[in-house]
This record gives sequence, C-alpha cells and structure tokens, in this order.
Amino acid sequence: MRLENICGQTYAINYPSAVGIYVLPNRECILIDSGASQAYAARTLKIIEQQSWKLIAIINTHSHGDHSGGNKYLQDSCGCSIYASPIEAAYLNHPVLAAYSLYHSVSMQEFRNKYYTVPAGTINSVIEGDSLEFQGERMLIWSLPGHSLGHIGIETPDKVLFAGDSLVDKSIMAGSGFYHLEDIKSQFKTLDRLKESESIYLSHGGFLDNPEAVIQSNQELLKNNLNLLESIIGKGCTREEMVSRLADKGVKVNKKNYFRLLTSTSAYAAFLHNSGRVQIAVQEGRLLFYPTP
Ligand SMILES: [Zn+2]
Repeated sequence: MRLENICGQTYAINYPSAVGIYVLPNRECILIDSGASQAYAARTLKIIEQQSWKLIAIINTHSHGDHSGGNKYLQDSCGCSIYASPIEAAYLNHPVLAAYSLYHSVSMQEFRNKYYTVPAGTINSVIEGDSLEFQGERMLIWSLPGHSLGHIGIETPDKVLFAGDSLVDKSIMAGSGFYHLEDIKSQFKTLDRLKESESIYLSHGGFLDNPEAVIQSNQELLKNNLNLLESIIGKGCTREEMVSRLADKGVKVNKKNYFRLLTSTSAYAAFLHNSGRVQIAVQEGRLLFYPTP
C-alpha cells in the first residue's frame, strides 16, 4: 500500500478501498474518500505528514463504510471539512440508515458492524452544484448514481476522475457478478456518462487511462444479469427465491453478503418490472414476479 502519483498534483493510495489525494499549490490537500477504517486513516495521515501536506477536506464518493470509515478519525485529528452529496450526506449524518436501507427496519444486532454502522464524523457541506473550488482550483462533481442513490465522482484539475464504485474492474465482475447496485436504470446512464471521461481511478482496481473496454464490460454484465434474472424468475418467484436460485447457479450466498445480494436482486427485478418485462402480483401472501404474458 503506497502513495502513487497519478498525474500532476493528483495522487492515490492503493488500499483495498483506494484514497485519492489532490494537492493544492500551498501544499494543503483534499482527500477523495477516507478508506475503510480508522487504521487506514491513521496510515493516510502519516503519509500526508511525511509529504508536508496539510489535510483540509474529504470529499466522499458515497457513504459505504469502506469509503467513509476514516472520516471521523481524520476530522477529529485535523479538523478537516467533509463534503458529500445530499443523499449520501443523509446516510453519513445518520449511520443507522445504512443497515436500515438493507434490512428495511432496525436490523439484528449482529449486522451493526463497522460496514453497516460507520462512525461518520460531521458533514460540513452538502454538495449542490457540479463543482467545488479550493483556492481557485476546481474539482468537478459528476453525478453517478446506481451503485448508491447519491453516488458522485470527483474529477481533479488533472482530469483524473475518481469514480468510486460506479465502475468495477474485472476481478469484481468475475466474483458473483451481482455486486452492489441500488438503481439499474441510473447505472446504465452512469456508465454512458463515464465514456466522456479521459481517465478513471477505480476505488477497487486502480488507474484506467483508457476506460472504454471496462465500461463496455460493465454494460454487458448488467444486460447479462437482467437476462439471467428473467430466466431464473421462470414461471414466477419472490425476491428471496431469486437469491436462492442464484445460489443454485453458483453465486456464493452467505450471512455476510445476503442483504447486499437481496438489494441488488431487488434493483434488477424492479428494472425488469419498470421496463415491462415482468409483472408482479400478491399470491398466498407472497409478492411474486412473473413473466409478462
Ligand atoms: Zn460502495
């Protein structure tokens, strides 16, 4: 895990959940995401101090714990400001919402771990426009919803777009393929928009100087997943049965990933319904999805 110079004044630390850094002319710096935990944040702060930089702000791509887990430690340590989009700011200001949105009520105690309940610090500024300015340097804010509802990307003045989890690399696609998505229609639009970027830094996967092929693979994955889910629905099934049928197809399902998988499956099922490919009905107390006749 080391500090990389990506281009100009744009840097990244390649943790499993990467942290981006943009350094201003006066050596103050801005982080894009804060890593997965206080331990990663402590390492980040050490690196920043070794470079004689001064942390003044964190911009979160989204609220998931592996991207915001260092917020509170860094803010407590150096008083930096934290910026987030309106929806993600709501999640960060109210950590109970992460588990709530996955389970749809207050969840069982065992799910209130560091990924589901993040010590988030205080959001000082909700991002409303499409850019943020620090000492005359403009960071462009890209709206990239899909993985989460208020997901953003941050483009530094060196034209490096930190795209968070709005694009995934081949290793994640090769996993279950059903990585976390909350809105499929928005994700298709996000992938189209990402084609306008010159270079992308992925939170899980690093730097892409020619992102076109990866964007195309992400688009194909979404289409394949929709087709797979439509075939799994067969003559009709509930969302929970869809997850069970995915397990029959070899997707790993366990207590750790169950609710994320149910969320993604639900997002795909809603897209199939909203585009007229499947219908819904309540039968014998079960919400059934079934093919459009
Ligand atoms: Zn995420």
